[in-house]
Amino acid sequence: MDLIQFQKLFKKEPRYRSEQAKRSLFRDLIQNWQEAVTLPLSLREELNKKCPIEISAKTFFSKDKNTIKALLTLKDGLKIETVLMRHKDKRNTICVSSQVGCPLKCSFCATGKIGFERNLEIWEIVEQVLFFARYLKKIKETVSNIVFMGMGEPFLNYQNVIGAIKILNDRDGFNLGARHFSISTVGIVEGGIEELAKEKLQINLAISLHAPNDELRSKLMPINKKYPIKKILNAVDDYIKKTRRRVMFEYIMIKNLNDSEEHAQTLAGLMKKPLYFVNLISYNPTGIFKPSSSRATAKGEEENLFSSPSLRIKKFKEILEKEGVMVTQRYRFGEDIEAACGQLVAKDGRK
Ligand code: SAH
Repeated sequence: MDLIQFQKLFKKEPRYRSEQAKRSLFRDLIQNWQEAVTLPLSLREELNKKCPIEISAKTFFSKDKNTIKALLTLKDGLKIETVLMRHKDKRNTICVSSQVGCPLKCSFCATGKIGFERNLEIWEIVEQVLFFARYLKKIKETVSNIVFMGMGEPFLNYQNVIGAIKILNDRDGFNLGARHFSISTVGIVEGGIEELAKEKLQINLAISLHAPNDELRSKLMPINKKYPIKKILNAVDDYIKKTRRRVMFEYIMIKNLNDSEEHAQTLAGLMKKPLYFVNLISYNPTGIFKPSSSRATAKGEEENLFSSPSLRIKKFKEILEKEGVMVTQRYRFGEDIEAACGQLVAKDGRK
């Protein structure tokens, strides 16, 4: 939808009209303005012409049906991916993209391999959420959480990401509480972590750390040369001082690369601070690396089943915990439809 056209159109209408429109769009989750029955017919027709709200998407279901990936086609023909994760307790998390592609080229992430096209507009972020909110309404469920962990780096598109959060957080509209939003970043300091610390928004911040020293982190994430670990942690400490909010540090477990006992000890040294916590993530294969082992099979072979961790990930977690670091583990969704973290490339080649 064209937000500027939308505002222009409602400028000449009484105030309650835009409220009615917002209610239809964000509460009733209409798919076409014709369904907005509180609005006069002529206005609905004008809206359909100038601010169409249909979303063009193709969906892919994982075998267990708990992960649904949507491939959205934008108005210029470019494509992005959005993922819905349906948790067992009926919570529904939507993983949204902030850019078409990504310029950062982290070695473990598939999105970086396709390069960078452009930033997403505010509405292009909002409509990823609306797409799945409309779907969930049909099965009488709602959106519980929104995470900026899809394609792109949210802090390289700061204004539009915050703009979209403000629209989705608006009490008269979609009304999702600020605490239900999370932004994941490689650690952009200026115009990112620093900026978020100034907002009066109670959203969650996650930092993609993935290595406990600069040498290894620079190999995995070229952006580390600009934003090395110390610089990021200083910005995070300042953010915590200002907001009093917890910060999550994401750590992908890659076999024989960042998963040794020594890595765990070094990481523990960095993470032993109040309001820090580490989220261990099983690496989703994207080509070059292997995931750290997490379970031994009956035959004594290693198998990667994150739901029942032992071996490397378990050991790693134990070391962190023994050192007094708060640790959580991320459940993996959607690997079979390439919808897991770092696997989003917006290609159309699968059933
Ligand atoms: N650019 C942002 C957000 C997008 S990626 C960021 O880097 O934080 C969301 C999360 O998925 C990040 O923690 C990212 O490092 C992680 N990720 C990327 N590739 C992955 C992979 N192959 N397996 C598991 N997690 C991956």
